[in-house]
Amino acid sequence: MQESYKYRGKRAKLIDHLRSKGITDEAVLEAMLKIPRHDFVEGAFQDQAYEDKALPIRAGQTISQPFTVAYQTQMMGLSRGMKVLEIGTGSGYQAAVLCEMGMKVFSIERSQTLHEEAKECLTALGYEPYLKCGDGSLGWKLYQPFQRILVTAASPDIPEPLKQQLDIGGKLIIPVGGRDSQLMTVVTRSSADRFEVQSYQRFSFVPLIGAHGWED
Ligand code: SAM
Repeated sequence: MQESYKYRGKRAKLIDHLRSKGITDEAVLEAMLKIPRHDFVEGAFQDQAYEDKALPIRAGQTISQPFTVAYQTQMMGLSRGMKVLEIGTGSGYQAAVLCEMGMKVFSIERSQTLHEEAKECLTALGYEPYLKCGDGSLGWKLYQPFQRILVTAASPDIPEPLKQQLDIGGKLIIPVGGRDSQLMTVVTRSSADRFEVQSYQRFSFVPLIGAHGWED
């Protein structure tokens, strides 16, 4: 866990850049200003950690672009103490942002390697989300309902278990579409059997692989 003035300066510039791209939620920006993103990527990529781009992590996956993290987090409309389920722990960076913002965080990753590495990194930084290795397209029944569910991988459809594990008034944020390009989608549960769906801008995520995602 190496912190330096160099990284702090780069991080401040990244936050200015996110503001210029329309991120206005101060709690999101503050969390991202504080979290050492370079600790979530391998040595060879650390110097690029504060560029606004996705970077490779183990298991052929990626740590999402900072703008995407900020956009999805802002879209959740969070208040401190909310119970949030993330699908796709990856490097653990998004989970760190949610913990730093004061959420009760649950996160699922299908790759055992990534699950273990994210756990190690988050623990070293003092974050304590509930982490599990498994198929996140099934949700996490034991801890339902969630006030927010965030999917950080591309889904062909809206997984039914995730809808059913939303609290009334809860929101599911999920990129939905083809393997190459998806629309950021927000599903709001307004009553036990009523869900409103709104679509926003286009993104390109790695696939959600699982029972309610794509085939391996
Ligand atoms: N949120 C991550 C971060 O902050 O680094 C980035 C996530 S990366 C874009 C998408 C992740 O979703 C990958 O690590 C991938 O292994 C994981 N994934 C794909 N399908 C999954 C599933 N069914 N359940 C859990 N994780 C899944």
